[in-house]
Amino acid sequence: MALLPILRFPDPRLKKVAQPVAKIDDGIRKLAADMAETMYEAPGIGLAATQVDVHQRLVVIDTSEEKNDLLVFINPTLSRCEGQQVGEEGCLSVPGIYDKVERAERVTIKYLDLDGKAQTMAAEGLLAVCIQHEIDHLDGIVFVDHLSQLKQGRIKSKLAKQARVTA
Ligand code: ZN
Repeated sequence: MALLPILRFPDPRLKKVAQPVAKIDDGIRKLAADMAETMYEAPGIGLAATQVDVHQRLVVIDTSEEKNDLLVFINPTLSRCEGQQVGEEGCLSVPGIYDKVERAERVTIKYLDLDGKAQTMAAEGLLAVCIQHEIDHLDGIVFVDHLSQLKQGRIKSKLAKQARVTA
């Protein structure tokens, strides 16, 4: 396994729309394993392939306390969204920035697992937020895109300052 570099907002590659995974082979299984390792190391609760500059529809998520419940979603789609919740979100591509985003409270997700089997899962609360956040990445959307232009401008200048300090 290997740690993968994570793209940082406002890298234009975060805006690419990912293509469906055509075939679930050893390359995809290795990508999922590397993404999981990268997510746990960061540490984070979700990572989309887009964030590691691979533009295929694959996300890994683990919202468990013990970090022992890895979920891998290939070609995920939301088939049902209900209710609403507003929570503070962060993102491994936008380090140190947290803000409130409105999301559906409950979702149903359809996806392929690592064996290529079609699966359906219902989720709510934090897991539902995480699923919506990661599917957004596959569509080229970062959570700060949901914020006002004013806030986005502030976040960009804050991140640019951080980059100068750490470079
Ligand atoms: Zn993110």
